Amino acid sequence: MTNSYDFIVIGAGPAGSSIARMLAKKYQVLLVDRKKLHDFKEKCCGGLLAPDAQKILAKFDISLPEEVIGGPQIFAVKVVDLETKKKQKYQRFYINMDRKKFEEYLINLAIAENVDYLDNCEFINFSDNIVTLKHNSIIKNISCHKLIAADGASSCVRKKCSPKRVRPQDLYVSIQELLPNNHNLNHFCAFFDKSITDFYGWAIPKSNGILFGGAFPYENSKQRFLMMKNKVLNQNLIHGTSIIREGSIIARPMTNSDFWCGEKNIFAIGEAASFISPSSAEGFSYAFKSAEILAKLLLKDKNCSLQKYQLKSLVIRANIYGKWFKMPLMYNKTLRNTILNSSLGSI
Ligand SMILES: Cc1cc2nc3c(=O)[nH]c(=O)nc-3n(C[C@H](O)[C@H](O)[C@H](O)COP(=O)(O)OP(=O)(O)OC[C@H]3O[C@@H](n4cnc5c(N)ncnc54)[C@H](O)[C@@H]3O)c2cc1C
Repeated sequence: MTNSYDFIVIGAGPAGSSIARMLAKKYQVLLVDRKKLHDFKEKCCGGLLAPDAQKILAKFDISLPEEVIGGPQIFAVKVVDLETKKKQKYQRFYINMDRKKFEEYLINLAIAENVDYLDNCEFINFSDNIVTLKHNSIIKNISCHKLIAADGASSCVRKKCSPKRVRPQDLYVSIQELLPNNHNLNHFCAFFDKSITDFYGWAIPKSNGILFGGAFPYENSKQRFLMMKNKVLNQNLIHGTSIIREGSIIARPMTNSDFWCGEKNIFAIGEAASFISPSSAEGFSYAFKSAEILAKLLLKDKNCSLQKYQLKSLVIRANIYGKWFKMPLMYNKTLRNTILNSSLGSI
């Protein structure tokens, strides 16, 4: 540990630990996270690795050790319209993971590449290339060439260092409960009900139960969650008493101005940059892709400009623009039910 680094990465989620690992091939890198390694509450997350994310891990030459696999492997999604009670099943290949173990695994890969890692270390401020951190309750000032914000949807770096905010109407609250798997659920269920949320709910079988959750507009999010749970219980799709309840924020990108690539001497990746699917909340592939794009630029040129990163990351934003066009098929009740009725693409 030194007092000066080429790059300091704030946040050791999938985006931060990936870019730290890649940059460490050439530079001195410090990776910090406010969580305690091995002793943290996992992020509220479905833990499903979608095909796009699997493809990038294959590119990174990363395979998943057995202990990261977190439940039955899933080959189907059942779409349930809670208002019309229509259901349809579609083929989809996910890897069902233990999110906490996945995160620990990615952090350990970064440490193995000689990344300096500080846990229980919170970002406080960044000014004149000096990062102020609170590590085990002690304030530290460390200098760096550039700061990388990988601190997720509620990015403190973004709040402290940028005037660019996510629009309040694009902030959603996701709430999840772990329920006993009394139904032997063996596929991923996606629940839609416009009267409760213009996002969606889910049930995912895990090794220790069913993750039942959803993403809801900020206002009355808890009541909306309970309303959805009641409907799903009444339709006998899940039952049982919750073992754990957890929540987190999703900054759903709905306009181009929601994205944030960084500021002077700061680059943003992953969910801190609002790189997440606005249709499904899938975010691992965007976390990995943005880490890869930025790492490639910085490995070529340590002084790479923000404009260059903005340009190269257009491919990510273009992918998200594509989701905006797909969204009416999922979230417009008439279109969705037409597709459910037609059995198009179903199994
Ligand atoms: C309910 C829910 C379900 C989801 N399910 C899926 C899914 O099944 N599949 C999928 O692909 N995506 C899913 N996502 C999205 C996925 O979780 C994110 O897109 C992904 O985790 C983004 O990675 P990240 O590294 O950018 O941010 P994060 O994973 O959020 O990591 C940010 C890190 O920064 C740290 N941090 C925050 N503030 C500070 C600070 N001030 N100082 C130091 N450290 C800090 C945090 O502790 C955290 O470790 C889901 C999201 C939600 C909310």
